[in-house]
Amino acid sequence: MPSQWKRQQIHIAGQWLSADSGRTLDVINPATGERIGTVPDAGAAETRRAIEAASQAFDESRALTGNERAVLLRHLHDLLLDNREALAELLTSEQGKPLAEARGEIGMSAAYILWFAEEARRVYGDIIPSPWRDRRVLVTKQPVGVVGAITPWNFPSSMLARKLGPALAAGCTVVAKPAPQTPFSGLAWGALCEAAGFPSGVVNIVTGSATEIGGELTSNPLVRKITFTGSTAVGKKLIQQASGTVKKVSMELGGNAPFLVFDDADIDRAVAGAIEGKFRNAGQTCVCVNRFYAQAPVYDQFVEKLAAAAAALKLGDGREPDVQQGPLIDSNALAKVESFVADAVQNGGRVVTGGRRHALGGTFYSPTVIADANAAMKLAREEIFGPVAPVFKFQTEDEAIRLANDTEFGLAAYFHTNDLGRVFRVSERLDYGIVGVNEGLVTTEVAPFGGFKQSGTGREGSKYGIEDYLEIKYVCVGGLGVVAPANQSEPHEANSDGK
Ligand code: ADP
Repeated sequence: MPSQWKRQQIHIAGQWLSADSGRTLDVINPATGERIGTVPDAGAAETRRAIEAASQAFDESRALTGNERAVLLRHLHDLLLDNREALAELLTSEQGKPLAEARGEIGMSAAYILWFAEEARRVYGDIIPSPWRDRRVLVTKQPVGVVGAITPWNFPSSMLARKLGPALAAGCTVVAKPAPQTPFSGLAWGALCEAAGFPSGVVNIVTGSATEIGGELTSNPLVRKITFTGSTAVGKKLIQQASGTVKKVSMELGGNAPFLVFDDADIDRAVAGAIEGKFRNAGQTCVCVNRFYAQAPVYDQFVEKLAAAAAALKLGDGREPDVQQGPLIDSNALAKVESFVADAVQNGGRVVTGGRRHALGGTFYSPTVIADANAAMKLAREEIFGPVAPVFKFQTEDEAIRLANDTEFGLAAYFHTNDLGRVFRVSERLDYGIVGVNEGLVTTEVAPFGGFKQSGTGREGSKYGIEDYLEIKYVCVGGLGVVAPANQSEPHEANSDGK
C-alpha cells in the first residue's frame, strides 16, 4: 500500500499541485532501476508563488510565541517517530541506502527537530549596560524571514531537518527544493508539517528544474536567506547569485576528509572507525573519509585489516535484511568512481580489494582499498563520494598534519592515537570544522556541524545552529529622564557620535 507520506505533487500555500506545464520527472529506485513514481517538473513561476506564500505566512509565523513553535515542532518530532518505518522505506526506495541506515536517518531527523523545539524557547536577547544615563540599550533576535533551502540526495530527510528545525524554531517560513534523485523524502516534509499543524504557507516544497528554482530563490528579494547543502561548485554559484540581493547564506559544501592512523593507535578500533567513516551510505557523505594516512610502522597491518573488513561487507538492495552497502545513487556516480580508480591504478596504486563493479550489476560497486596511494592521484584531491579507500603512508606527526591540511576543503577529519598529548596537538592543528578522535561517526544534533575553508559557512545543529536563522536587532530607548546623583548638579554626558 502506498504510504500517505509519498506525495507526487509540489506543496505551495497548503495546496498539493502539479507543475504549470503538467510535465513530470521520473524517480528511480537505484537498487532495481525501477521507476517508482514521478514528481512535478516545476520552474521559476511555481517557485515565485511559493515564495509569495511563504512571505504572506511570515507574519503569522513570527507572531507565534517560542512555546507555540515548540509545541508544533514536538508534534512534528512525534510524527516522524510514529511513522519511522514508512518514512525509512520511502527513503531507501529512492536513495538505496540500507533500511537500517534509513531508519537511523529518520531518527536523526526527529532528533534535530526535537533539539530545535527546545531551542525555540531560548532565543535570548541582551540588555547592555548603557553609556547614557537616560537611554537603554536592548538587543533582541528575530527571524530572518523567508528561507530558501536546497538539499542533496545523500541524506534526503535529515539534511532538510537541519534546516527546517532551526528555521521553524526561529519563526521563519521556508521554500525548499529537494534533490531530483530523492524528492519523495523532501515532499514528505510538506505532508508532515501540514499534519503537525504548521499554518499553510509556512513550509512549501518545490521540485523540478534546479537552475530555474535556484535562480528564483537566489534572486527574489522576498527571500532573505539561502541555506544549501551540496557540492562546492553549486554552493559558489548560489553565493554569487545571492549577492545581488545581499541574502544571508549558510553553506554545507564538499569535504576531503583525512583519517590519520598513528603507530600508537589501537589498529582494530581504527579499522572499525574506518569502515563506519568510509563505507556508510556507500561512501556518499560529505564527512566520509576520502584519504587514509597510516604511519609507516603500522601501514601494512592497517591496509590488510581494512581490506579484509571491506571485503566482508554485504552488498544488496537496502530493503533486504543485513545489507551493509547499497548501490551508488546513479550511473554518473558509478562512472566517477570507476574513473578515479583507473586514475589511481595508472599512478601506481595497488588494488588490495575491490576495484571493480560488483556482480550485482546496476550501480553496485565493490568496497575498494587501494594501497601505495600518492599525491598524483585524483583521489588525493577530489571528493570520491564512493566506496573507495586510498591509503597513503607517512613518517612523522608534522608530515601527517601537513598532508591532512593540504586541501582547499575543511569539513571533517579523523585520527586514531592513544597518546593524550597527540590528541590535543593534532586536533588543534587540523584545519577542520569537525574532528573525530578515535571515532568514525561523530554527527549529533547537539554539536555544531560545518566546515572551514571551501567546505562552507555557518553551522547546523547545536545551540549555534539557530543563529543562522536570526537577525540581531539593537533598540535604543531614549528620553527616559535622568536621576542626578545627590552631590552632582550637572549629569555627566556620555559620548554620542550619532553614527
Ligand atoms: P550532488 O553532486 O551531490 O548532486 P549538487 O550540488 O549538484 O550535489 O546538488 C545538490 C542540490 O543542489 C540538489 O538539490 C541539486 O538539484 C541542486 N542544484 C544543482 N545545481 C543547482 C543550481 N544551479 N541552482 C540551484 N540548485 C542546484
